[in-house]
Amino acid sequence: MPSPALRLNLDPDALQANWRALDRMSGNARAGAAVKADAYGLGVKGVVPLLREAGCRDFFVAHWSEVPDVLEVAEPQMLAVLHGPLSDADAAFARETGVKPVINSLEQARRWLDAGGGRCDLMVDTGMNRLGVTLDQLGEPVLAALDIDVLLSHLVSSEEDTPLNELQRQRWEHARTALPHRRASLANSGGIALGTAYHGDLTRPGIALYGGVPRPEMAASLRQVVQPQAAILQVREVAAGETIGYNATYTATTAMRVGTIALGYADGYLRCWSDQGEFTAGGHTLPVLGRVSMDLTVVDLSHAPEIGEGDWITAQYALPEASAASGLSQYELLTLLGHRFGR
Ligand SMILES: *Cc1c(COP(=O)(O)O)cnc(C)c1O
Repeated sequence: MPSPALRLNLDPDALQANWRALDRMSGNARAGAAVKADAYGLGVKGVVPLLREAGCRDFFVAHWSEVPDVLEVAEPQMLAVLHGPLSDADAAFARETGVKPVINSLEQARRWLDAGGGRCDLMVDTGMNRLGVTLDQLGEPVLAALDIDVLLSHLVSSEEDTPLNELQRQRWEHARTALPHRRASLANSGGIALGTAYHGDLTRPGIALYGGVPRPEMAASLRQVVQPQAAILQVREVAAGETIGYNATYTATTAMRVGTIALGYADGYLRCWSDQGEFTAGGHTLPVLGRVSMDLTVVDLSHAPEIGEGDWITAQYALPEASAASGLSQYELLTLLGHRFGR
């Protein structure tokens, strides 16, 4: 295979340090890891072994279609599927593989028991109104028949200070008294910083593992994990008065030296970075010139004479700053990065 002209430069030490920091911040609870959406775009086959080596034993994906990749690098009993069994085929697949379904409704509970049941997790809705059994349903016999490993709920606004956090915590505590279970879990990344009362037995960080900073007080403990990098395909001289890219949004005011990279909005480097994004190479800052197109972007090399064709340059992509600059969420910034990146 020819080698890709795009790569996600993943810092394994930073990923492992982030998991350890979140595990420490989780106090007596253990930190798990949300690895849905291919570990937020970073690639489960790289991420999961590193997290296992750091000590992580609980992984969460959203879809059943995400299971086979994770099973290449983890044991089935470590993995839970958040969307739960949508069909008898899903339930049979869970039984066959030994992966835990997260039960989200009475119907899913019945489907799981009809398929033969076994160890599962249970999602209780405490305010999201998205997935999970309601508090009113906790007395239903079909839930009492489940073999519940983790009883979980999910916070609506853990990155904010809002009374909803405490209300959800109280509802989750109530659910814990209503049904037998081995472990309880409430906190995602932001929830870990809300304190011991939110930790239960297991926390479920996602974005913070990958360098997102959900709450400012976590910033000092978390490191950037991934840097998108692109190779320069071509260098050209542009005369003063010439324009660069689609719709001629950028006009050179002096003679310039520019480089074209193999990165565009089809790779998740969206048009919001047009005339706005920045790259670095050899200590230079390289501004994006003109529109980001589908497969190509042009950067200014005027002040970086030693950077040329074939050289790799790095996008400025620290998540909190990139989010503020682009208006995209830290989650979107990662999960957008497409399959043409070498991982
Ligand atoms: C995605 C997800 C998480 C992780 O959330 P972050 O905000 O990325 O830490 C935890 N729990 C559930 C149920 C999720 O869907």
